Amino acid sequence: MRGTATTRTADVVIIGGGIMGASIAYHVARRRAGRVMLLERADMFGTGSTGANAGGMRHQFSTAVNIELSRLSIAMMERFPEEMHQEVDLNFCGYLFLLDNEADMAVFRRNVALQHRLGVPTRLLNPDDIRELAPLFRLDDIVGGTFYDRDGLADPSGALQGYLAQARALGAELRTGEPVTAIRSVAGRVTGVSTSAGEIDAPVVVIAAGPWSGEVGKLAGIDLPVQPVRRQIAVTRPIPGIDRSFPFTIDFTRSLYFHYESGGILTGMSDPDQPPGFDTSVDPDWRLAHIEQAVNRLPLLETAEILTEWAGLYEVTPDDQPILGRLPQLDGLFACTGFSGHGFMQGPASGLVIAEEIVDGRAHTIDIDPLRWDRFEKHAAVAEYNVI
Ligand SMILES: Cc1cc2nc3c(=O)[nH]c(=O)nc-3n(C[C@H](O)[C@H](O)[C@H](O)COP(=O)(O)OP(=O)(O)OC[C@H]3O[C@@H](n4cnc5c(N)ncnc54)[C@H](O)[C@@H]3O)c2cc1C
Repeated sequence: MRGTATTRTADVVIIGGGIMGASIAYHVARRRAGRVMLLERADMFGTGSTGANAGGMRHQFSTAVNIELSRLSIAMMERFPEEMHQEVDLNFCGYLFLLDNEADMAVFRRNVALQHRLGVPTRLLNPDDIRELAPLFRLDDIVGGTFYDRDGLADPSGALQGYLAQARALGAELRTGEPVTAIRSVAGRVTGVSTSAGEIDAPVVVIAAGPWSGEVGKLAGIDLPVQPVRRQIAVTRPIPGIDRSFPFTIDFTRSLYFHYESGGILTGMSDPDQPPGFDTSVDPDWRLAHIEQAVNRLPLLETAEILTEWAGLYEVTPDDQPILGRLPQLDGLFACTGFSGHGFMQGPASGLVIAEEIVDGRAHTIDIDPLRWDRFEKHAAVAEYNVI
């Protein structure tokens, strides 16, 4: 390998130490693909979107590629304690979608048919089925729903730490406090990055910078259409009668969700009018609107006390689908970003397919063609419908 006294070298540089960067570092290192460097600008790993997320994992999507990414990821999550020597607190409590109109019922019927074709036996429910499954909710306006009992929850911090520890054990160099400030290239090929600590020569660079990926794309002169969008969460103190079997429940029209958390309820609601931006303070107006809707849907919350709340950033693309794979603008440049609110659950499989793309020349466990960057150029983007 080349390099001057001040220039370090690597075979693969990964920008961003969230679940994606950690999973890619592990999967590339496992393939013995040379020297892997994971660069995180914050002083700790996982302080971006990964540190703010709700831990949900589901198969219930509207596009085949998302169903496949989730199916593989959830199977990998099941094997995580054994393979990665790290607990991830799996809880197969199921995901319950509540629908209040016939138009959504029609779309969800089609989605369930697709899920069945791909081997995911989601159930379509009528209001009586839902009452049995989720008796604590106000359901008078609900016309039906869907449920799959192999959806559920896992611990994002456990998954992140597991990937980092195993990547390190396999020889990857994991660096915090080192922002990437430039992506260098010569004649259409990536040659490395510049960071706060100097230059790193590398023939392969992966952008896994979550909500900051648009900014990082600009360092290479590339338009990566990923926008940061604030999303808020509140968690209550323990509530008698709530246990781990409480299904992850989504009022789809309102993008309002509830799940079990440490004896209480974690709830979030997405503001459809939230402008893009990096602000992660809790918006007090949206908090009021959220709590009002949450109490309306789950009346026992009226007397619950909020223990903690926070806001984080979704990394949103125009079609709510991730951007995966090699970027056509520069040889050696790859993207793994833009998961639009469902990246934790797809971290395991995404790291694997990016490693295949780098080491084998092309992802092969899953066909990621529908998620490649050029779909925007070709006007071939297909939006994911089941976005919360
Ligand atoms: C409130 C909320 C709830 C969510 N709930 C769920 C859920 O239930 N299930 C689910 O699957 N997903 C959920 N998500 C989405 C999920 O958290 C993300 O999709 C996922 O964490 C994205 O991971 P990432 O590694 O791509 O990004 P991040 O975790 O944001 O990591 C990117 C990293 O890149 C670093 N970085 C940025 N710029 C640079 C640079 N120039 N140099 C070096 N490093 C840089 C950042 O500091 C950051 O650590 C939720 C998100 C939020 C905000």
